[in-house]
Amino acid sequence: VGVEVKVSVTRPPCTGHGRCYSLAPEVYGCDDEGYAVIENPEVPAGLEAQARLGAANCPEDAIVIEE
Ligand code: SF4
Repeated sequence: VGVEVKVSVTRPPCTGHGRCYSLAPEVYGCDDEGYAVIENPEVPAGLEAQARLGAANCPEDAIVIEE
């Protein structure tokens, strides 16, 4: 399975309200303060939709998806 997209979170503007990891917990996680962290930035094809869902729902536009 090849890598489909790469994701990253920029902080700021991540404000840590957690929409990304609530919606797509297999792609996004959080640190002790609730800021998003990505343990595996290389998203496999099967999780690409989740990655995009999280990015689309980030109100701060803090998630960057690289094709
Ligand atoms: S939805 Fe955006 S601002 Fe909120 S925790 Fe996730 S990356 Fe941060």
